[in-house]
Amino acid sequence: MSPTRRRLLGGLDLGGTKIQGVVLDGRRNVLGQARSATPTTGGAQDVILGLVSTLGSACADAGVDVGELTGVGVGSPGAIDTARGVVTGARNLPGEGAPIRIAAGLKTLGGVKGYVDNDVTVGVNAEYVLGAAKGAKSLLGVWWGTGVGGGIVLDGKVWEGRGAAAEIGHVVVKIGGAQCTCGRRGCMEAYAGRGAMEIRARRLHDRGRKTDLFKIMEKRGRTRLTSGVWARALEHDDELAIELIERALEALGAGVASAVNLLDVETVVIGGGLGTRLGEPYVERIREAMLPHLFVRENPPRVALAELGDLGGAIGAALLVPR
Ligand SMILES: [Zn+2]
Repeated sequence: MSPTRRRLLGGLDLGGTKIQGVVLDGRRNVLGQARSATPTTGGAQDVILGLVSTLGSACADAGVDVGELTGVGVGSPGAIDTARGVVTGARNLPGEGAPIRIAAGLKTLGGVKGYVDNDVTVGVNAEYVLGAAKGAKSLLGVWWGTGVGGGIVLDGKVWEGRGAAAEIGHVVVKIGGAQCTCGRRGCMEAYAGRGAMEIRARRLHDRGRKTDLFKIMEKRGRTRLTSGVWARALEHDDELAIELIERALEALGAGVASAVNLLDVETVVIGGGLGTRLGEPYVERIREAMLPHLFVRENPPRVALAELGDLGGAIGAALLVPR
């Protein structure tokens, strides 16, 4: 009698700074994991080599061969052609936004079938299927990181609109307000995105505002104000960090509450690099910041911290592999 073939799924979360890989079994238990730095030079081919090598390491950690995988899912930034598994316009990856043929590359170099979708969409879906929103019928995911991404599940189905739904970062919280990276003004992300917060921190620091943010950054050998840098500055009661985070929380409160007024979801999940790093005390601050803007104030939705942590994106990506 031949042994039953185990169902094994690969998942890769392709981020601007790191690639996180996981291997799951058929019951969605994590069997192995690996993490590597995202290539910063070269082009599409280098990104694909990085994905294949991280997948190989995750498989080695799980004690399986890449060839045994049923398939591998990839969560990626940029615009995704899910049918072809191609990513374009991901400007924080090598190649300046040129097409990256991920599915084809995984097949050729890894010998495995690949499925690609948006990184936030798969992360939110993982929280819906296995994490903080398990059992909820409707959900709004708010991924607080460099930008502010979102995901919506309504009546148990991911709502994609015409392909561009859930861009909660670009909900307007102030007409004619701060400049956003999208070219418009007053978007929530222009106040709450880590990228926007860093730009403002640099400007104020250059004008002479005192802050330890950049000292902490340098001490950690970083060139950006990472989530860890913000967390550290807040622990040290850095005035500028507190001021900018409070501004972010106010914007999040208004933007998320407005989305809730429109959709009336059961659960809001706060995830993303900064959301996960700052954790529950800041989820509580978001709950409080939402209250003045809620139309039905006496019945707010449950607001929960993402549960799957750093692995959520990769686990969600693995769930892309069809049953
Ligand atoms: Zn915007």
